[in-house]
Amino acid sequence: MSKVLITDYVHPKLITQLEVLGYDPIYKQGFDPDEIADVIAELTGVIINSKIKMTAAVIEKATHLKFIGRLGSGLEIIDLDAAMQAGIAVINTPEGNCNAVGEHAVGMLLTLSNNLLQADREVRDLIWRREAHRGVEISGKRVGIIGFGHTGQAFARRLRGFDPAIVYYDPYVINIEEDVSHFHSVDLSAIWDCDIISFHVPLTSETQHMLDKTFVSNCSQRPIVINTSRGQVIDTKELIVGLESGQISGACLDVFENEKPEKYTTEDNSLYKSLFSKPNVVVSPHIAGWTDQSLERISDVLLDKIAAIR
Ligand code: NAD
Repeated sequence: MSKVLITDYVHPKLITQLEVLGYDPIYKQGFDPDEIADVIAELTGVIINSKIKMTAAVIEKATHLKFIGRLGSGLEIIDLDAAMQAGIAVINTPEGNCNAVGEHAVGMLLTLSNNLLQADREVRDLIWRREAHRGVEISGKRVGIIGFGHTGQAFARRLRGFDPAIVYYDPYVINIEEDVSHFHSVDLSAIWDCDIISFHVPLTSETQHMLDKTFVSNCSQRPIVINTSRGQVIDTKELIVGLESGQISGACLDVFENEKPEKYTTEDNSLYKSLFSKPNVVVSPHIAGWTDQSLERISDVLLDKIAAIR
């Protein structure tokens, strides 16, 4: 039978429905990334999250592989050229978790704008300070979205009820849903004039350290920066410099250049200690796309796309 290895936690329906489609699912949560090269030749399909890297060397051994399914959106862990040359379909599921990311980004922004983290801690300590925690409304602010694909549009859709002016920068956008098509496309320079700047781009050579020293110095409105895309899109050092000088007024970060605290270098340790000690920074551990609903929707999208390539 056609074996499909699933290397991470998935909704149970993915397994039962793969069987209905005639596959033999092998469910190995926490599959050791170092072992993928040893088993890949036996597989018809592989379903991965972010730990398994489908390099050209692994793909070369994938003599029977028909598809690589990605539980999520980012494809930087897959050598796309090698997969294409080998005739292997690469399937990702950005439709499955974009709503989750949009909601999470709004949630982080509201948390920061209303000083909820500090206020919550103080109330628990029976400290009652109101003026110190006066908030800032999103209404009337100018929001710049960098990358207007699935998560960028989902963020815009959720944010619009707060009545900000929304613009986006995306020179490569393919599909804009009708309900968000009235938002204006602008140059990157117009994004620098926004009060809130949110990153929704894939990690590429162009987007790596897109927020760098120049980007920070070009910002004219002391913006709040939101990143739910990939940690490497922001140069953490330059963000910290911007936060300390006041050029950036706050940051909401779900993703980081190093997401493995157990592997922090000495430099990382001091960098993240500085970042995490700042009251105007809200952080979460790469969970923006992680909801009960997205777990199920990712399986639905993946199953539809796998059924379509048979
Ligand atoms: P998507 O492919 O639907 O949209 C990305 C958009 O970025 C595209 O429209 C593309 O044209 C645009 N883009 C590419 N290069 C650009 C550039 N140089 N400048 C401006 N725009 C550019 O992807 P998505 O599903 O919206 O995901 C966006 C990012 O968010 C990815 O990095 C993805 O891995 C990440 N993500 C993170 C989480 C999480 O849990 N934090 C969840 C889902 C996605």
